[in-house]
Amino acid sequence: MTESGDGGPATIEARATTLGALRQGLGWALGSILGGAGNIIAPAVCLGCHVRISAHDALCAACWQQVSFITPPLCDRLGLPLPFGSGEAPLISAAAAADPPPYDRARAAAVFDHVMRELIHGFKYTDRHEARRLLARWMTGAGAELLADADLVVPVPMTRWRLIRRQFNQAALLAREVASASGVTFDPFVLRKTRRTPTQVGSSARQRAANVAGAFAVPKSARRRVADRAIVLIDDVITTGATVSACARALRAAGARRIDVLAAAMVADPRRVDL
Ligand SMILES: [Zn+2]
Repeated sequence: MTESGDGGPATIEARATTLGALRQGLGWALGSILGGAGNIIAPAVCLGCHVRISAHDALCAACWQQVSFITPPLCDRLGLPLPFGSGEAPLISAAAAADPPPYDRARAAAVFDHVMRELIHGFKYTDRHEARRLLARWMTGAGAELLADADLVVPVPMTRWRLIRRQFNQAALLAREVASASGVTFDPFVLRKTRRTPTQVGSSARQRAANVAGAFAVPKSARRRVADRAIVLIDDVITTGATVSACARALRAAGARRIDVLAAAMVADPRRVDL
Protein backbone atom coordinates (compact mmCIF):
# COMPACT_ATOMS: atom_id res chain seq x y z
CA MET A 1 0.00 0.00 0.00
CA THR A 2 1.52 3.35 -1.02
CA GLU A 3 0.72 6.68 0.45
CA SER A 4 0.63 9.73 -1.78
CA GLY A 5 0.50 13.33 -0.67
CA ASP A 6 1.89 14.82 2.50
CA GLY A 7 -0.58 13.32 4.92
CA GLY A 8 -1.52 16.83 6.08
CA PRO A 9 -4.63 17.62 8.09
CA ALA A 10 -6.94 17.78 5.05
CA THR A 11 -5.95 14.27 3.91
CA ILE A 12 -6.27 12.87 7.42
CA GLU A 13 -9.66 14.45 7.79
CA ALA A 14 -10.78 13.05 4.44
CA ARG A 15 -9.51 9.63 5.40
CA ALA A 16 -11.27 9.82 8.77
CA THR A 17 -14.51 10.85 7.09
CA THR A 18 -14.28 7.98 4.64
CA LEU A 19 -13.55 5.56 7.45
CA GLY A 20 -16.38 7.01 9.51
CA ALA A 21 -18.79 6.70 6.61
CA LEU A 22 -17.64 3.16 5.98
CA ARG A 23 -18.10 2.23 9.61
CA GLN A 24 -21.48 3.90 9.72
CA GLY A 25 -22.50 2.10 6.56
CA LEU A 26 -21.33 -1.22 7.91
CA GLY A 27 -23.10 -0.65 11.22
CA TRP A 28 -26.27 0.27 9.40
CA ALA A 29 -26.07 -2.80 7.18
CA LEU A 30 -25.40 -5.04 10.17
CA GLY A 31 -28.26 -3.41 12.05
CA SER A 32 -30.53 -4.12 9.10
CA ILE A 33 -29.49 -7.75 9.02
CA LEU A 34 -29.64 -8.32 12.77
CA GLY A 35 -32.76 -6.30 13.39
CA GLY A 36 -34.71 -7.79 10.50
CA ALA A 37 -34.33 -5.90 7.27
CA GLY A 38 -37.75 -4.26 7.44
CA ASN A 39 -37.10 -2.69 10.76
CA ILE A 40 -34.73 0.06 9.86
CA ILE A 41 -35.56 0.68 6.24
CA ALA A 42 -39.35 0.41 6.26
CA PRO A 43 -41.58 2.95 7.97
CA ALA A 44 -43.34 1.85 11.15
CA VAL A 45 -46.76 0.36 10.54
CA CYS A 46 -49.41 -1.07 12.86
CA LEU A 47 -48.93 -4.82 13.14
CA GLY A 48 -52.71 -5.29 13.08
CA CYS A 49 -53.99 -3.10 10.21
CA HIS A 50 -50.76 -1.76 8.66
CA VAL A 51 -51.54 1.97 8.97
CA ARG A 52 -48.48 4.19 9.50
CA ILE A 53 -47.65 4.74 13.16
CA SER A 54 -44.74 6.36 14.96
CA ALA A 55 -43.11 3.29 16.53
CA HIS A 56 -42.02 -0.13 15.28
CA ASP A 57 -43.32 -3.36 16.87
CA ALA A 58 -46.57 -1.75 17.97
CA LEU A 59 -50.29 -1.39 17.26
CA CYS A 60 -52.33 1.70 16.37
CA ALA A 61 -54.78 2.94 18.99
CA ALA A 62 -57.78 1.36 17.24
CA CYS A 63 -56.18 -2.11 17.09
CA TRP A 64 -54.87 -1.80 20.62
CA GLN A 65 -58.42 -1.28 21.86
CA GLN A 66 -59.43 -4.57 20.30
CA VAL A 67 -56.93 -6.60 22.29
CA SER A 68 -58.56 -8.25 25.31
CA PHE A 69 -55.62 -8.25 27.71
CA ILE A 70 -56.00 -10.73 30.55
CA THR A 71 -55.81 -8.93 33.86
CA PRO A 72 -56.76 -10.03 37.40
CA PRO A 73 -58.97 -11.47 38.68
CA LEU A 74 -57.93 -14.72 37.01
CA CYS A 75 -57.73 -18.41 37.86
CA ASP A 76 -54.31 -19.04 39.37
CA ARG A 77 -54.04 -22.48 37.76
CA LEU A 78 -55.55 -22.00 34.29
CA GLY A 79 -54.90 -18.28 33.89
CA LEU A 80 -58.43 -17.73 32.58
CA PRO A 81 -60.03 -14.38 33.35
CA LEU A 82 -62.68 -14.58 36.05
CA PRO A 83 -65.71 -12.30 36.30
CA PHE A 84 -64.96 -11.32 39.88
CA GLY A 85 -62.34 -11.89 42.55
CA SER A 86 -62.05 -11.86 46.30
CA GLY A 87 -58.84 -9.83 46.26
CA GLU A 88 -57.33 -12.37 48.63
CA ALA A 89 -55.38 -15.61 48.23
CA PRO A 90 -54.97 -17.10 44.71
CA LEU A 91 -58.29 -17.85 43.05
CA ILE A 92 -58.97 -21.28 41.62
CA SER A 93 -61.72 -21.56 39.02
CA ALA A 94 -64.35 -24.28 39.25
CA ALA A 95 -62.90 -25.80 36.05
CA ALA A 96 -59.41 -26.05 37.58
CA ALA A 97 -60.75 -27.45 40.84
CA ALA A 98 -62.79 -30.12 39.04
CA ASP A 99 -60.01 -31.12 36.64
CA PRO A 100 -56.61 -29.80 37.79
CA PRO A 101 -54.12 -29.36 34.94
CA PRO A 102 -50.78 -31.24 35.03
CA TYR A 103 -48.93 -27.90 35.09
CA ASP A 104 -48.78 -25.51 38.03
CA ARG A 105 -49.89 -22.21 36.53
CA ALA A 106 -50.73 -20.92 33.06
CA ARG A 107 -50.71 -17.31 31.94
CA ALA A 108 -51.39 -15.59 28.64
CA ALA A 109 -51.14 -11.96 27.64
CA ALA A 110 -54.57 -11.74 25.98
CA VAL A 111 -57.68 -13.61 24.95
CA PHE A 112 -57.43 -15.23 21.50
CA ASP A 113 -59.84 -13.02 19.57
CA HIS A 114 -59.99 -10.12 17.07
CA VAL A 115 -56.59 -8.51 16.49
CA MET A 116 -54.80 -11.10 18.62
CA ARG A 117 -56.08 -13.86 16.37
CA GLU A 118 -54.79 -11.98 13.29
CA LEU A 119 -51.40 -11.36 14.86
CA ILE A 120 -50.97 -15.00 15.81
CA HIS A 121 -52.24 -16.36 12.52
CA GLY A 122 -49.77 -14.17 10.63
CA PHE A 123 -47.08 -15.41 12.93
CA LYS A 124 -48.00 -19.07 12.84
CA TYR A 125 -48.86 -19.72 9.23
CA THR A 126 -46.64 -17.32 7.31
CA ASP A 127 -43.03 -16.35 7.64
CA ARG A 128 -44.02 -12.83 8.71
CA HIS A 129 -42.70 -12.55 12.18
CA GLU A 130 -43.11 -8.83 12.74
CA ALA A 131 -45.34 -9.49 15.74
CA ARG A 132 -42.65 -11.53 17.50
CA ARG A 133 -41.20 -8.74 19.60
CA LEU A 134 -44.55 -7.23 20.52
CA LEU A 135 -46.03 -10.59 21.56
CA ALA A 136 -42.93 -11.52 23.53
CA ARG A 137 -43.01 -8.17 25.34
CA TRP A 138 -46.63 -8.75 26.36
CA MET A 139 -45.82 -12.31 27.41
CA THR A 140 -42.89 -11.20 29.54
CA GLY A 141 -45.25 -8.83 31.34
CA ALA A 142 -48.08 -11.36 31.76
CA GLY A 143 -45.64 -14.03 32.95
CA ALA A 144 -43.52 -11.85 35.24
CA GLU A 145 -44.49 -13.85 38.32
CA LEU A 146 -43.71 -17.16 36.59
CA LEU A 147 -40.41 -15.96 35.16
CA ALA A 148 -39.22 -14.33 38.39
CA ASP A 149 -37.66 -17.48 39.82
CA ALA A 150 -37.68 -19.82 36.80
CA ASP A 151 -34.62 -21.83 35.80
CA LEU A 152 -35.47 -22.57 32.17
CA VAL A 153 -37.62 -21.24 29.36
CA VAL A 154 -38.62 -24.15 27.11
CA PRO A 155 -40.68 -23.90 23.89
CA VAL A 156 -43.31 -26.47 22.89
CA PRO A 157 -41.33 -28.44 20.28
CA MET A 158 -42.20 -29.52 16.75
CA THR A 159 -41.18 -32.74 15.09
CA ARG A 160 -38.07 -32.39 12.98
CA TRP A 161 -40.15 -33.14 9.89
CA ARG A 162 -42.53 -30.28 10.61
CA LEU A 163 -39.68 -27.94 11.42
CA ILE A 164 -38.03 -28.68 8.09
CA ARG A 165 -41.28 -28.07 6.24
CA ARG A 166 -42.17 -24.88 8.04
CA GLN A 167 -38.61 -23.74 8.70
CA PHE A 168 -39.43 -22.15 12.01
CA ASN A 169 -41.06 -23.03 15.29
CA GLN A 170 -43.16 -20.07 16.36
CA ALA A 171 -43.09 -21.17 20.02
CA ALA A 172 -39.29 -21.24 19.94
CA LEU A 173 -39.12 -17.77 18.39
CA LEU A 174 -41.30 -16.41 21.20
CA ALA A 175 -39.47 -18.38 23.87
CA ARG A 176 -36.11 -17.01 22.80
CA GLU A 177 -37.40 -13.44 23.00
CA VAL A 178 -39.04 -14.01 26.40
CA ALA A 179 -35.87 -15.65 27.75
CA SER A 180 -33.69 -12.81 26.62
CA ALA A 181 -36.06 -10.18 28.03
CA SER A 182 -36.35 -11.93 31.40
CA GLY A 183 -32.78 -13.20 31.74
CA VAL A 184 -33.93 -16.82 32.15
CA THR A 185 -31.96 -19.53 30.32
CA PHE A 186 -33.46 -20.55 26.97
CA ASP A 187 -33.28 -24.29 26.36
CA PRO A 188 -35.08 -25.62 23.26
CA PHE A 189 -33.50 -29.07 23.55
CA VAL A 190 -34.86 -30.50 26.80
CA LEU A 191 -38.19 -31.41 25.28
CA ARG A 192 -38.70 -33.33 22.05
CA LYS A 193 -41.74 -34.17 20.00
CA THR A 194 -41.42 -37.85 19.36
CA ARG A 195 -44.11 -38.43 16.79
CA ARG A 196 -46.28 -36.57 14.33
CA THR A 197 -49.76 -35.71 15.52
CA PRO A 198 -52.87 -34.93 13.47
CA THR A 199 -53.83 -31.28 13.04
CA GLN A 200 -55.85 -30.04 15.98
CA VAL A 201 -58.07 -27.76 13.91
CA GLY A 202 -61.68 -28.80 14.33
CA SER A 203 -60.94 -31.38 17.02
CA SER A 204 -62.80 -31.57 20.29
CA ALA A 205 -60.97 -31.19 23.58
CA ARG A 206 -61.06 -34.95 24.10
CA GLN A 207 -59.70 -35.66 20.60
CA ARG A 208 -56.95 -33.10 21.07
CA ALA A 209 -55.86 -34.71 24.31
CA ALA A 210 -55.82 -38.16 22.69
CA ASN A 211 -53.89 -36.82 19.67
CA VAL A 212 -51.00 -35.49 21.72
CA ALA A 213 -50.91 -37.99 24.60
CA GLY A 214 -47.37 -39.29 24.95
CA ALA A 215 -46.14 -37.32 21.92
CA PHE A 216 -43.49 -35.44 23.92
CA ALA A 217 -40.47 -36.67 25.83
CA VAL A 218 -37.38 -35.46 27.62
CA PRO A 219 -34.37 -37.18 26.04
CA LYS A 220 -32.17 -39.08 28.46
CA SER A 221 -29.30 -36.70 27.79
CA ALA A 222 -31.44 -33.74 28.97
CA ARG A 223 -32.86 -35.26 32.14
CA ARG A 224 -30.21 -33.70 34.35
CA ARG A 225 -31.10 -30.23 33.04
CA VAL A 226 -34.78 -30.75 33.92
CA ALA A 227 -34.62 -32.54 37.28
CA ASP A 228 -35.65 -30.31 40.18
CA ARG A 229 -35.91 -27.24 37.93
CA ALA A 230 -38.64 -24.63 37.64
CA ILE A 231 -39.62 -24.49 33.98
CA VAL A 232 -41.65 -22.00 32.01
CA LEU A 233 -43.09 -23.74 28.95
CA ILE A 234 -43.86 -21.44 26.03
CA ASP A 235 -46.51 -21.76 23.31
CA ASP A 236 -48.17 -19.23 21.04
CA VAL A 237 -51.78 -20.09 21.95
CA ILE A 238 -53.37 -22.22 24.63
CA THR A 239 -56.56 -23.63 23.14
CA THR A 240 -57.77 -26.57 25.22
CA GLY A 241 -54.43 -26.97 26.98
CA ALA A 242 -53.97 -30.47 25.53
CA THR A 243 -50.54 -29.78 24.02
CA VAL A 244 -49.05 -27.97 27.00
CA SER A 245 -50.51 -30.64 29.29
CA ALA A 246 -48.80 -33.41 27.31
CA CYS A 247 -45.53 -31.43 27.48
CA ALA A 248 -45.97 -30.83 31.21
CA ARG A 249 -46.45 -34.55 31.85
CA ALA A 250 -43.18 -35.33 30.05
CA LEU A 251 -41.32 -32.65 32.03
CA ARG A 252 -42.88 -33.86 35.29
CA ALA A 253 -41.84 -37.45 34.52
CA ALA A 254 -38.28 -36.18 34.07
CA GLY A 255 -38.39 -34.67 37.56
CA ALA A 256 -39.16 -30.98 36.93
CA ARG A 257 -40.02 -29.29 40.22
CA ARG A 258 -42.40 -26.71 38.82
CA ILE A 259 -43.96 -26.35 35.37
CA ASP A 260 -45.65 -23.11 34.42
CA VAL A 261 -47.05 -22.30 31.01
CA LEU A 262 -46.85 -18.95 29.26
CA ALA A 263 -48.57 -18.13 25.96
CA ALA A 264 -49.26 -15.05 23.89
CA ALA A 265 -52.98 -15.81 23.87
CA MET A 266 -55.52 -18.10 25.44
CA VAL A 267 -58.89 -19.24 24.21
CA ALA A 268 -61.41 -18.09 26.78
CA ASP A 269 -63.91 -20.80 25.85
CA PRO A 270 -62.07 -23.72 24.22
CA ARG A 271 -65.29 -25.50 23.27
CA ARG A 272 -66.23 -22.84 20.74
CA VAL A 273 -63.00 -21.93 19.01
CA ASP A 274 -61.01 -23.53 16.24
CA LEU A 275 -57.41 -22.60 15.67
ZN1 LIG B 1 -54.01 -0.92 13.57
